[in-house]
Amino acid sequence: MSLVLYDTRMRSKVPFAPIEPGHARVYTCGPTVYAPQHIGNMRSQLFADTLKRALLADGLRVTHVINITDVGHLTHDDVDQGEDKMEAAAEKSGRTAAEVAAEYTEQWRVDRERLGCLPPEVLCKATDHIAEQLVLIGELEERGYTYRIEDGVYFDTAKFDRYAEFAGLDLAAEAEGARIAAVEGKRNPSDFALWKFAEASVVRQQEWDSPWGRGFPGWHVECSAMSRRYLGEHFDIHTGGVDHIKVHHTNEVAQSECAFAETPWVNVWMHNEFLTFGEEKISKSKGHVLAVADLIEQGIEPLAFRYFILQAHYRQQQAFTVEAAQAAATGYRRLLAQAAELRGATGAADPARCEPFESRFRAAMADDLNTPRALAVVFDVLKSDALEPADRRDLLTEFDASLGLGLADAEVADLAQESDPRIDALLEERQAARKNRDFATADRIRDELAAEGVEIIDTPEGPRWQRK
Ligand code: AMP
Ligand code: ZN
Repeated sequence: MSLVLYDTRMRSKVPFAPIEPGHARVYTCGPTVYAPQHIGNMRSQLFADTLKRALLADGLRVTHVINITDVGHLTHDDVDQGEDKMEAAAEKSGRTAAEVAAEYTEQWRVDRERLGCLPPEVLCKATDHIAEQLVLIGELEERGYTYRIEDGVYFDTAKFDRYAEFAGLDLAAEAEGARIAAVEGKRNPSDFALWKFAEASVVRQQEWDSPWGRGFPGWHVECSAMSRRYLGEHFDIHTGGVDHIKVHHTNEVAQSECAFAETPWVNVWMHNEFLTFGEEKISKSKGHVLAVADLIEQGIEPLAFRYFILQAHYRQQQAFTVEAAQAAATGYRRLLAQAAELRGATGAADPARCEPFESRFRAAMADDLNTPRALAVVFDVLKSDALEPADRRDLLTEFDASLGLGLADAEVADLAQESDPRIDALLEERQAARKNRDFATADRIRDELAAEGVEIIDTPEGPRWQRK
């Protein structure tokens, strides 16, 4: 079933057809590694991973490239002003920029893995691809799209007539509303730096020689240069968070479509909405840095957070509260327990009985990755009288390839067991009663616990319990 995906550029859903038959090429704007990646950042990874899994489930080979921004992302990236985030973080912590980058790249990698995200085929760092960025800037210069001022080499957005089209920008209003004065000498407020010169008065750790002078690349140029290297000049899907649409992706489109032969540069642009705390988006600069490790401390395991994220469509803003995530975690553990129990089912599944559920699940995922609808099918599978345990077992295994929730290999013995001495004691009492064939007492304990929302699951390793 072919996928229909929402394309930011077209502002509508479009049927997906890979440029090269059977092979989807995807680029995801990855982390700026100056601080821990928070759970909002991880939503953008979970979205990209869901997309990748949907493409794989559709029978495509996928080349997924993710970049690591380890230079050039300024604190006011919309106007090319401010400090380089990497340099500032290095100075603050008394370490080298490379050490800071290595620490947070690793944290991000581990968190991605804990969240069940498949590894990308290519993970590329901006600082490893300075040469590719210089080539691109040189080509843009040759074609007359750049100009040089004291601060650096800039892209002249007035020379690309479609500049405002991608994000539907009202450039005059944007310029009016600008909070920070433009760099002196810039021809148009929307012009952006391709190469920034190192200031003589500022000692930078990260700077390189270039045909224009010593300095460092502007943030946007890395994505065009690295995607070109690993995916070619024309590829299928580019993803990122919605905050990238107006500046970062608009600028990526401008420089790529002016330098590369093919237009449009990217066939489908996909953006995830924000994870918010109340009305506010979660952002590092605002000091919200709840990370996966903090969730674990609060008793929310990473895959339970994945389940929480899948409950909302990626194009909807999603509000994070610890209570909502804990409620999702309870639901997730129940789902896992049911999946684990089904793994003991014997016999073969019946394809005819499974088919209606499979096609509903595939239709949900094919409809712009509608994960809430796909999860509803999972629950229908669990409660449908039309299915036998072996059907349920196989359907959950199949669906889990798209969901990544660990349902396919859930083992009863692995289930996270809450500890509560009173409940544990009651369970022991019930075991003892059963041993003495005092089933009345055993049943009474089960009913009492059920009345307070605690369910007993009997497993070959002995009874376990969970809150409903
Ligand atoms: P950064 O490390 O700031 O470059 O961001 C990495 C990715 O996370 C980008 O694709 C952002 O658009 C995305 N992102 C940042 N904040 C949030 C948030 N609160 N919710 C969802 N995605 C976000
Ligand atoms: Zn990018």
